[in-house]
Amino acid sequence: MELPQRPGSRLDSYVDRYAARTRGMTASEIRALFAVASRPEVVSLAGGMPNLAALPMDSIATVAEQLIRENGPVAMQYGGAQGDETLREQICEIMRLEDVEGHPDDVIATVGSQQALDLVTRIFVDPGDVILAEGPSYVGALGVFASYQAQVVHVAMDDQGLVPDNLRAAIASVQATGRRIKFLYTIPNFHNPAGVTMAVERRPEIVEICREAGILILEDNPYGLLGFEGETYPALRSLDTENVIYLGSFSKTFAPGFRVGWALAPHAVREKLTLAAEAANLCPPAFSQMMISRYLSTQPWQEQIKAFRELYRERRDATLTALSELMPAGVTWTRPDGGFYVWVTLPPGLDSKAMLPRAVTARVAYVPGTGFYSDGFGASSLRLSYCYPTPERIREGVRRFADVLREEMEL
Ligand code: PMP
Repeated sequence: MELPQRPGSRLDSYVDRYAARTRGMTASEIRALFAVASRPEVVSLAGGMPNLAALPMDSIATVAEQLIRENGPVAMQYGGAQGDETLREQICEIMRLEDVEGHPDDVIATVGSQQALDLVTRIFVDPGDVILAEGPSYVGALGVFASYQAQVVHVAMDDQGLVPDNLRAAIASVQATGRRIKFLYTIPNFHNPAGVTMAVERRPEIVEICREAGILILEDNPYGLLGFEGETYPALRSLDTENVIYLGSFSKTFAPGFRVGWALAPHAVREKLTLAAEAANLCPPAFSQMMISRYLSTQPWQEQIKAFRELYRERRDATLTALSELMPAGVTWTRPDGGFYVWVTLPPGLDSKAMLPRAVTARVAYVPGTGFYSDGFGASSLRLSYCYPTPERIREGVRRFADVLREEMEL
């Protein structure tokens, strides 16, 4: 079938009518890459899609069938704006694995933690307000911050995560300009994209710095249960219940297609978040929430998380082995203990974005580092995701990438 032509779709004739907040809305580097990276001949080390090969689809089908037969009319109806009460209780149990003591009344279920990021930014940020974020930071969060016209100031990390002294310096330099810092956005565990984890000893210091400066912490923790040795770390929220908003998600420990995440916030903030959520989408999807709730109460979900950990650990190992055997001298990378990502830094003079078309021609894709900064920084770095391809494909991808790099270094 011939699709009708859409005249004018290339040149946007609505440009002078859009709201000012759309100015920060640009296609993410990842999205632009999806089309090429998904061709079968390309080894994609670009996207961070969870690998669902480990999910027991038959058992999940049984959960779905029972839910529909036993409680279909409720599951298919609107629900409360704050989310399903049973699920919120179960969420509190899950958070206990990382020492977080939360009350179900202080939890709001959201459409993925992505919506929680949006809601928190919506209720706290006016145009021009400053948000501190690690450098590099999660591209999806930067997109939200841009759409509320926030100014993101990046704080550099080392291989132990956010550096307290850098945080102090960033706060001082922003405050010296008279601008208001609304919150610190941080991904303490198995960072996307940096692949590092905030040292446990640094956590109380970081919490203290923010509390003293009157800066909220937005703790984003979708990967916390995916430590390859089964290790978990005390959440920042466990160190301060008043100044930390904690975000969690079922996307990486179960499946992203349900689109269920959550926020645990100080009570007053949770109420404001619920009002914002109600305005945005009335309520989170009842069907998804009830599916997850039944899955948690009838299936061995902790065993399932273990299976995910094993799957990702095997891929992390394949990536690190291939990098250490194949990378040219001068290239460095992080060594993740969990999660999906390795952050690679190239020798000075190489530009990961300029190099990408040549990498794709060589049939390997990654995400250039500039996508993870709001300020144009990051040209000499890039993110490799190892979550999806098989270990053999990962090795092949790293080999192709190493060949491209060698050619670049000879140019
Ligand atoms: N935060 C981080 C750090 C992420 O990596 C992601 C997903 N890639 C999200 C939030 C959003 O996850 P979801 O909306 O699926 O819960």
